[in-house]
Amino acid sequence: MVFKKFDDRSRGNFEPRPMVKGDWKCSECAVAITELPFEPAPDRPIYCRECWSKKRPPRFSR
Ligand SMILES: [Zn+2]
Repeated sequence: MVFKKFDDRSRGNFEPRPMVKGDWKCSECAVAITELPFEPAPDRPIYCRECWSKKRPPRFSR
């Protein structure tokens, strides 16, 4: 991802992806998850990064 900011006086204070901290479990492999790059919905299964990539393979051209 190319993101250049020239007016960046507050360097180091900017987080491109704030992680949401919590105590979850992967619905697939039951591994403990302590951080997520997004706020999880309580009524939706939560997957760890590995299971995510398994469920959502990189764009598959059909
Ligand atoms: Zn998992």
